[in-house]
Parts: sequence; C-alpha cells; structure tokens
Amino acid sequence: MSSAKCEECQVGRCQPMAMTYMRSLGPHMVILPNAPANKCDMCGRVNFDPGFLSMMQAILDELVEDQQQDGRDKSPITDMYQEWTPVGKGS
Ligand SMILES: [Zn+2]
Repeated sequence: MSSAKCEECQVGRCQPMAMTYMRSLGPHMVILPNAPANKCDMCGRVNFDPGFLSMMQAILDELVEDQQQDGRDKSPITDMYQEWTPVGKGS
C-alpha cells in the first residue's frame, strides 16, 4: 500500500512504522512495543493500524470480562473464608 495523506493536516504523508501502544485497563497499563502504526511526516500525528486496534479491543474486552467473572466467582468464597476464620484453632 502506498502512504496515505494525513487526515489531520492534509499535507503530510503517513509513513508506516512501529510505535509503542499504551492503554490503561483499570488498574493496569497495557504496553505493546512495535505496534503497527502510521505517522505523519508533517504534523507527527500517529494513527494505529485499524486492524490492530480492533484486534486489541477484542482482546481487552475479553480480559475485562474475565476479570469481572473472577470478581463474581471470588466474592462468595471470600465470604465463606471469613466465616471460617473464627472457627479455626488459632490462638
Ligand atoms: Zn499530518
């Protein structure tokens, strides 16, 4: 594919290059070096590859879902554990 015209300044050309993709996910930070992106050689605007972005979104959605399910599964266990503690033979 030939380099596309920049949407921001309409002058520069977007050059494909590897950029570090960063995104916060709740208390976590997702950092992906060498993510496929296009950078304008005029204004420096960076656009990540749309295919890469939608792939990342799908992965992150799955991660968030997993975390939420973990939370639901763990809370009853925690309640049980708290009830158990006083029964123990501890000092
Ligand atoms: Zn530009």
